[in-house]
Amino acid sequence: MLGYVGIEAVLDQLKIKAMKMGFEFNIMVVGQSGLGKSTMLNTLFKSKVWKCTPPGLAMPTPQTLQLNSVTHVIEEKGVKLKLTVTDTPGFGDQINNDKCWNPILGYINEQYERYLQEEILITRQRHIPDTRVHCCVYFVPPTGHCLRPLDIEFLQRLCRTVNVVPVIARADSLTLEEREAFRRRIQHNLRTHCIEVYPQKCFDEDINDRILNSKIRDRIPFAVVGADQQHLVNGRCVLGRKTKWGIVEGQCRDSAENAGEGGLKIQAHPAASGTLNTHHRAQSGQAHNQEADRPGNQVPPCSEEDSVENMAHCEFPLLRDLLIRSHLQDLKDITHNVHYENYRVCRLNESHV
Ligand code: GDP
Ligand code: MG
Repeated sequence: MLGYVGIEAVLDQLKIKAMKMGFEFNIMVVGQSGLGKSTMLNTLFKSKVWKCTPPGLAMPTPQTLQLNSVTHVIEEKGVKLKLTVTDTPGFGDQINNDKCWNPILGYINEQYERYLQEEILITRQRHIPDTRVHCCVYFVPPTGHCLRPLDIEFLQRLCRTVNVVPVIARADSLTLEEREAFRRRIQHNLRTHCIEVYPQKCFDEDINDRILNSKIRDRIPFAVVGADQQHLVNGRCVLGRKTKWGIVEGQCRDSAENAGEGGLKIQAHPAASGTLNTHHRAQSGQAHNQEADRPGNQVPPCSEEDSVENMAHCEFPLLRDLLIRSHLQDLKDITHNVHYENYRVCRLNESHV
């Protein structure tokens, strides 16, 4: 029997290398206008990644009129994440929605093409910039019925091209029972129309993946509430929606955002791609709103213990954990090994690349 040779040190090497290189991650949001896509992007990264609101002014989120991408570098505990968020104009808003998915699928395929063209160069870059969409969050309107034919057609096309995570948008408009029944009906629709959303069963690699991903599949589509305004609830600050009846809690703003040193830092960068428009710039790491800025009504910075993420109100934390904390690398791997690979094979078979 051989003795110890210290092979596990390779893990440290990988970690150091990954920290040096940083990560790239690209998210797209798709759905009808007014469902809270832009708001959710801000909630997800606990910062104004999508719009710039001058301190003290709580302005309504501007309507997204064209497909826009913005790239930010987020740094947390020495780990750099180059994040590109692509916001899309409301799809299916027209009277004639024939082929309304074309601009969105066109954008996704354009990023694969861009990567392919770099990859097949004889002298190619050591690191090919990755603008491919790793995850597309699909917003289902909270009708309480089932998926609309338009959703089904779009999802069928989208799932063949990219990782899709569907969510029930504006879930505060449904009761808990309605939400659960709606979720089950959507799951049934997905099954009967063979729509494989992320995490796809066929890519579970082992029993551990299967156990974890089955739990996730059971909860998908997550019921989310978009909120990028902070409020005080029992002495704790939460991102929530203030209504006449109370505050619907989206999630707690934890210490990272308010911490400054060592906390979450966001810098705006122009998007990598030439055809992308960067109309918005991120504001570095602080979100302001009327409540917080009003004298005598300062919302104190939250500490980690204050992290009350109210799952009774909204399943936003499940979505955030899936996208950022537990499956980020897997989303990238499936994008590269499955979706991009399919695209690459088709294009190379056309033989006139
Ligand atoms: P988008 O068109 O899908 O990007 O939607 P926006 O993010 O621009 O949001 C449209 C409006 O809906 C804004 O006034 C938001 O404050 C509001 N909104 C966003 N998310 C929610 C939600 O979960 N529930 C409710 N009730 N309103 C929301
Ligand atoms: Mg929008």
